Amino acid sequence: MTAPENASPLKTRLRVMAEELGFQAFGVVGIAAALRREYYLKWIAEGQHGSMGWMERNNDRRLHPPNFLPEARSIIMVGMNYYQPYPQVGYKVARYALGEDYHNFLFKRLKKLCTAMRELGGEQRPCVDTAPVMEKPLASQAGLGWQGKSTILVHRKRGTWLLLGTIFTTLELEPDTPEPDRCRSCTRCIDACPTQAITGPYQLDARRCLAYLSIEHDGVIPEEFREAMGDRLFGCDECLNVCPWNRWAEASAEEKLKPRPLPENLRDSFEWTEDYYNLRFGGTPLKRLRLPRWLRNACVVLGNTGTAADLPALEKLAAGPDAMVAEHAAWAVRRIRERRAGEGNFPPKENGAA
Ligand code: SF4
Ligand code: SF4
Repeated sequence: MTAPENASPLKTRLRVMAEELGFQAFGVVGIAAALRREYYLKWIAEGQHGSMGWMERNNDRRLHPPNFLPEARSIIMVGMNYYQPYPQVGYKVARYALGEDYHNFLFKRLKKLCTAMRELGGEQRPCVDTAPVMEKPLASQAGLGWQGKSTILVHRKRGTWLLLGTIFTTLELEPDTPEPDRCRSCTRCIDACPTQAITGPYQLDARRCLAYLSIEHDGVIPEEFREAMGDRLFGCDECLNVCPWNRWAEASAEEKLKPRPLPENLRDSFEWTEDYYNLRFGGTPLKRLRLPRWLRNACVVLGNTGTAADLPALEKLAAGPDAMVAEHAAWAVRRIRERRAGEGNFPPKENGAA
């Protein structure tokens, strides 16, 4: 993160502070940033946000940044590299969710920046994801990258792996130049999406997206998407993994984002209690999923990747009290049996060998 030659001493100081706090990207956009309001409202009106009702609310602030903080003049956008290689456990958890939940520690670091800015005479409001902020359009206006055809922010050096934070401030800081769109003729993200959720360039139907279906969506995963889930237990990185701008990606040096241990064998988690689940994944994004949805997703993954050795545990779950989990477990049993039958060696031989 190098300061542009024309940056004011104040902005340079803030940029250096952000770097010391672990942010690799920093940019400023004026409070009257141009947002694609019509696009967002149309997307909501079409119901493409699925059951994420919170996306319909607070549009007075989401679409009008000046309403966040009276007298605000500028918006600072920061980004932290979260890229991590996948742990070798036979299933995938989205890279952003492998370590500690970023919301708390990012917010604390933004608050440190805000404290320093207060001493410089500013009044601030920090946000990390949880407030109704159009982070990606603001980040692209602040020169952190551009919103690619997958709708994800793409940074020229960090690729698609940035966690974003926002600070509204009354300080007048000179805005950065927005980054031009560098997707050009590439369509890799659109082609790679296993559920055709990217319905066209810059168009994402969340109802088809595995990140939504496996995390936000509470209930049955429609059968048409289960096979496409493959080995993805929590979220999906497919449209990010294929982006050519990730060729320079390096594993994040941030200790808090280092992967936490995951169970080697998904069927072992069938014996967990809700308390154990919460203890095991406390402080990580997985905790928010809660045990029933973990089990639901684990059944889908095992239905796609499991072997005869998983059948007893799945059959037990299929007879269990949670109807939603039981239905997914029964589906997984059917899938494994069909696969084994297709391979010509099912039912198992008498000695139990698969
Ligand atoms: S996260 Fe996965 S399912 Fe969602 S748009 Fe990207 S590739 Fe498609
Ligand atoms: S994969 Fe290609 S089209 Fe998609 S965001 Fe990256 S550069 Fe753009």
